[in-house]
Amino acid sequence: MSKCVAVVGAGLGALSCALRLARMGFEVIVFEKNPQIGGKLNEMRLGAYRFDTGPSLLTMPFVIDELFEFLGLSRQALLEFTPIEPICRYFYPDGARLDASADVAKMKAEMAKLSAADAATYENFLAYAERIYKLTADIFLFSPIHEFASILKLRHLGTLFRLHQIDPLRTVHQGVSRFFKDARLVQLFDRYATYNGSNPYRAPATLNIIPHVEYGLGSYYIRGGMYRLAEAMLHAAGELGVKIETSAKVEKILHDGRRVNGVIINGKKIAADYVVCGQDVVVAHNQLIDGFEARRRKLNRLEPSCSGLVFLWGVAKRHPELAHHNIFFSRDYQNEFAQIFAARQPPDDPTIYVAITSKSDSAHAPSHGENWFVLLNMPYLTGEVQWNHETAKGREIVIKKLRRMGFDIENHIAEESAITPQDFYQRYLSNRGSIYGISSNSRSTAFKRPANRSRALKGLYFAGGSTHPGGGIPLVLLSGKIAAELIAKTEDKN
Ligand SMILES: Cc1cc2nc3c(=O)[nH]c(=O)nc-3n(C[C@H](O)[C@H](O)[C@H](O)COP(=O)(O)OP(=O)(O)OC[C@H]3O[C@@H](n4cnc5c(N)ncnc54)[C@H](O)[C@@H]3O)c2cc1C
Repeated sequence: MSKCVAVVGAGLGALSCALRLARMGFEVIVFEKNPQIGGKLNEMRLGAYRFDTGPSLLTMPFVIDELFEFLGLSRQALLEFTPIEPICRYFYPDGARLDASADVAKMKAEMAKLSAADAATYENFLAYAERIYKLTADIFLFSPIHEFASILKLRHLGTLFRLHQIDPLRTVHQGVSRFFKDARLVQLFDRYATYNGSNPYRAPATLNIIPHVEYGLGSYYIRGGMYRLAEAMLHAAGELGVKIETSAKVEKILHDGRRVNGVIINGKKIAADYVVCGQDVVVAHNQLIDGFEARRRKLNRLEPSCSGLVFLWGVAKRHPELAHHNIFFSRDYQNEFAQIFAARQPPDDPTIYVAITSKSDSAHAPSHGENWFVLLNMPYLTGEVQWNHETAKGREIVIKKLRRMGFDIENHIAEESAITPQDFYQRYLSNRGSIYGISSNSRSTAFKRPANRSRALKGLYFAGGSTHPGGGIPLVLLSGKIAAELIAKTEDKN
C-alpha cells in the first residue's frame, strides 16, 4: 500500500513537493487554510482591473520546466514565459532614468548615460556574479545543504575550500562598490539584496549572484498573469490524483515525541506516514508542533526578511513613459534600510516598485487604464507600528513622490486595495508578516535557515520560503523538490 503524506498549506513550495511525491507513487493530501491555493502567489480583481498580489517577476524558469518534465506534463502547453524588455525602468530622484536590459550592449549604453567608467566595468561585474553562481548554486540552491552526505560530495567540498571566491566577507554594497562608483548604479545593483528581503548593507556579497540570475539567465513574465503558475500546478494535481482541500486549516501536527503520525483539521485526526509542512517553519513551531521548546526559541531568534506594503490601484489613465516593471528610487538608500531593519519603522522616503501587467496583457485593465501593483519594502511586524495609520501615510507619500517625479495619478485611481504586513501574517501565516522567510542579513544565514527535514521528528519535512534554500518562486519550488527527494530516499531505506 502506498504511504500517505499530509501537506500543510498550498503555497508553491508545498505544492511542488506534493506533486513530486504523487508522481513517485505516494498518496498525497494537501490542506490549505484559504479558499484559494497559491499562498503569496495570488490574484485579485477590482472592477475591470486584474492584479497579481504577490510575485511579479519570474527568474530561473528552468526550475519550473524541470518540475513539469518530472511530472510528465508539458510546461509549454500550460504556461507561456515571456522575457520582459526592458527588465526594469529605473527613475532616480535627480531625474535620471535607466532601462535595464539583459542585452549587454544595451545595458552598457544605458549605464554610460550615468557613468562611462562604470559602464566599462559592467562585464567584469557580470563575470564576478556568474562566478559566484557557478560556485554556489549546486550546493546552496539545488542540494540539501544540511544533509551531511550532501556536504561530503567531492564537488561540494571543493566549493567549501573556495569559499573566499564567493565573497562572503564583504556586504552586497561593498561587493557592488568595488565595480561601480556612480551612487545611482551602486543603488541599482544593491537593490538585488531585496529580492530575498534582505539589507544590502548587511547581507553578504554572495547575494551578488542575483544580477547573474536576472541578467544572465533571464527575467520573465507568465502570460496571463503570474497566478497562471498556481493554476498550472492545480491542473497537475488533478492529473496526478493529489487531493487538495481548501478552507482547511491544519490545527496541529501530531507526533509521539519521535515521529509524526498525522494532522488535526477541524478537531479531527487525519493519519499520515509523512507530514510536509509548507507553513512558515517558525510559525509552525509556535502553533502546530507541541513540545521542542529549545528549538522553538532558537527559530524565533532568526531574523525574518522584510515585509511589504502593497497598493493595488486601477488607474484610469495610460502612461506610455512607464514600463512593465518600474522602480522609483529613494534619495538615501542606506537610511531607508536603517529605518526598515534597525529602527523597524516604515521608511519616510521608500523606494517604490510599480509593476503594470497590463503593459504585457491588455486584458488586465480597461483600454483607458492600467493595473498598478505598487510595492514598498517595510519592516516585519513588531507590534509597534499602527498599520491603519501607516497605510494611509504610505499612500500619501507614494502619491506625492510620484507627482514630483512626473506621474500625477491621484485623481485617476478608480479602484484600490492595500495589503499590509499585518495582512501578510493573517492571510498566509508568514512569520511576523515577512514575505521571504528568513533574511540573509548575516554570513551564516544559508546554514542557519531551517533544513527541509526535521531532525527532531521522523517523518516531518519542510518546504517553502522559510526553509532551505530560501524565498522567491524558483527557490521555494526547489525546497519542495529537495524535501520530496529526502522522503523518497528515506522510503528506499525502509
Ligand atoms: C508582494 C510580494 C512580492 C513578491 N515578488 C516576488 C517576485 O517578483 N519574484 C519571486 O520569485 N518571488 C516573489 N515573492 C516571493 C514569493 O511569492 C514567495 O517566496 C513564495 O510564493 C512563497 O511560497 P511558500 O511555498 O513559502 O508558501 P506561501 O506563499 O507562504 O504559502 C503558504 C501557504 O500555506 C497556507 N497555510 C499556512 N498555515 C497553514 C495551516 N496551518 N493550515 C493550512 N494552510 C496553511 C497559507 O494560507 C498559504 O497559502 C514575492 C512575495 C510577495 C508577498
